[in-house]
Amino acid sequence: DVLLALESSCDETAVAVVDRDRNVLANVVASQDELHRRWGGVVPEVASRAHVERVLPCLDDALKQSGKSLDDVAAVGVVTQPGLVGSLLVGLTAAKTIAWLLDVPLVAVNHIEAHLFACRWAADRDPFPAVGLVVSGGHTNLYDCRTTLDFELLGTTTDDAAGEAFDKAAAVLGLPYPGGPSLQKAALQGNPKAVRFPRTFLNNERLEFSFSGMKTSLLYAAQGQPGSQTPVPPLTPERVADLAASFQEAVVDVLVGKCEQALKATGRMALCVGGGVAANARLRERLEEMTARRKVALWISPREFCTDNAAMAAIAWDLLEAGRVSPLDVDVLPGLVRKR
Ligand code: ATP
Ligand code: MG
Ligand code: FE
Repeated sequence: DVLLALESSCDETAVAVVDRDRNVLANVVASQDELHRRWGGVVPEVASRAHVERVLPCLDDALKQSGKSLDDVAAVGVVTQPGLVGSLLVGLTAAKTIAWLLDVPLVAVNHIEAHLFACRWAADRDPFPAVGLVVSGGHTNLYDCRTTLDFELLGTTTDDAAGEAFDKAAAVLGLPYPGGPSLQKAALQGNPKAVRFPRTFLNNERLEFSFSGMKTSLLYAAQGQPGSQTPVPPLTPERVADLAASFQEAVVDVLVGKCEQALKATGRMALCVGGGVAANARLRERLEEMTARRKVALWISPREFCTDNAAMAAIAWDLLEAGRVSPLDVDVLPGLVRKR
């Protein structure tokens, strides 16, 4: 008996096969990066159309890789929120069709909760209770996670998400799309102390984030402040590396600092971190230092489950076991339109 899991909330078409013990038998992800690169961000209409073309080939690949057939599918899990409406609808329509055809339960999944569920493959067991941080392209959320079925939001960003800030910073520095991984790579050659960027909200107790001011500081450091006569150094590869390293360090300082505050506030003895930015090597290193110092367990999602994938939608197993099955007329809940 296996779960068939689908994810199409943004620009990756993903299908996974996960058994009842939460072993990932197949995890197929078709990225659309090359389709969106020339626009510098995800174009919703382009994304929906690409999902339509890719969802069935991904399904075939996932079943083939898992060595399972549709007859082995005991349930279908699918991300229904949040995300781009057209993109979500493709995955949901495929999931509904399969669930109806096979007469198996359909389980609707929240993408952000799924990002945190992926930490179970770092822990090799259920990692909760824990403080949870989701750092991704669209979200920077801190949770008190009691169980996989009970996540309480402690705080969020008042403007940009951390991943969005990395993507925009990379664009300012002329680094290739998608920005987060390029910025990390450039930062390797740079000095994180070259430029002192602000650490917004780090010195207050509120569990909130703001990255737009930090982004503007980077823009001024790279291009000069409008109306100012002070010249800025030319954007040589060395300067780009210094700015990338300094900006990454500032964002990581804030993320690690707020996790530590949330651990103090809740008294939890474990920290779970998921989402695309959790792939960042410097963030992982600094989280390890902080949690070792506080003697708290750290479960960061394994890299292959950080950026969007369908394996993480295996949170559907937990939901199913709790009786949270969705009707076949369940709808998508896109939430906010994603900023570009
Ligand atoms: P959300 O999960 O909020 O709906 P999303 O699904 O588009 O948004 P993810 O796929 O979870 O986002 O993560 C993508 C983000 O992660 C991008 O902003 C990307 O730049 C960032 N990212 C990926 N790898 C790294 C890295 N190594 N360092 C920093 N950022 C990274
Ligand atoms: Mg993506
Ligand atoms: Fe995501």
